[in-house]
Amino acid sequence: MSPLPAASAPAVPFSFELYPPRTQAGTIGLHETIRRLADARPSFLSVTYGAGGSTGGRSLDVLRHIRRTTTVEPLAHLTCVGNTYAGATALIREFLDADITSFLALRGDPPAGHAEGDPFLGDLESAAQLVQLIERVQAERSPYTEGEIPGIPAAARVERRRRVQIAVAAFPSGHPRSRHAGQHLDALLAKQAAGATFAVTQLFFHPDVYLAFVERARAAGVTIPLLPGIMPITSPARLRRVLELTGEELPAELAIALEVEPTAEGQREIGIDAAARLARDVVAGGAPGVHLYAFNDHEIVLAVLRRAGILTPQMENAS
Ligand code: FAD
Repeated sequence: MSPLPAASAPAVPFSFELYPPRTQAGTIGLHETIRRLADARPSFLSVTYGAGGSTGGRSLDVLRHIRRTTTVEPLAHLTCVGNTYAGATALIREFLDADITSFLALRGDPPAGHAEGDPFLGDLESAAQLVQLIERVQAERSPYTEGEIPGIPAAARVERRRRVQIAVAAFPSGHPRSRHAGQHLDALLAKQAAGATFAVTQLFFHPDVYLAFVERARAAGVTIPLLPGIMPITSPARLRRVLELTGEELPAELAIALEVEPTAEGQREIGIDAAARLARDVVAGGAPGVHLYAFNDHEIVLAVLRRAGILTPQMENAS
């Protein structure tokens, strides 16, 4: 699994983020969404993980379902905030036992009211340390793999172990809690040095924010692929919630367009259109693919990819 194109993969690789549902009805709906998204042949389907382990079991259930019912690579978000070293090690083993070998290693946000240095924040201080731990746990479990020797049944050749894929988060507009402008780039460099194989960005609203970030990151020595994270914003309420969570600046044009549009259907179209333009522009600027925040809804993100010209009728007919 790689955010970069393989020979048989779509020309512009794409992937989707899902979250573990809380209800039985949500689970049934998500299974249909997974089926429809898998048909489009994404590079991977990622599943979020609640900081402090609040969604642990449910995240793993969704990842297992993806592994069992599709040929798409499941990618597990893992957070370390609030966990001990032993607890994080056990968690990684549990995911590897379920044949989940692709991760997005995150620190996670401490719950409100917890300050830096609070013992609750746990043994691992940063996502970079979690990247190292995943690498180490995987290496201890399978120091090598066995390959077939053609023509000699039952014989095996020892090969170098397959590396786990470890993605990390990147913040084109900086992290809301960064103490200085370069802090998130230093954190990204540390994650790369620890073994991260690619990064997925926080959402952003203008292509230049992503493209300028890539330039700054490359100048600072970041060499891993930086996959742009794109979120279709299909209502004023969603926009407000997202700004609250990410600390991004209000995208005035989109905000006004959503506010003045009276119908939910019209707002949905505005959101799809804006996300499709963003996807087209970052790909034209050299992005290695696009990662779409799907909110457990296949129709909107597939419409974005169609409108951006990334998902073509030929590709859909072939699947
Ligand atoms: P790190 O790489 O350790 O830190 C990155 C930078 O963040 C630091 O350099 C610093 O600038 C800043 N920073 C982080 N924490 C602090 C702090 N306490 N004080 C000061 N500065 C700080 N969260 C979840 O809980 N579950 C998820 O599934 C999830 N998925 C995500 C997916 C993506 C693509 C992105 C971009 C974010 C996701 N997050 C998720 C949010 C993420 O956990 C938070 O943004 C968290 O604050 C930083 O995590 P990190 O892995 O980037 O941390």
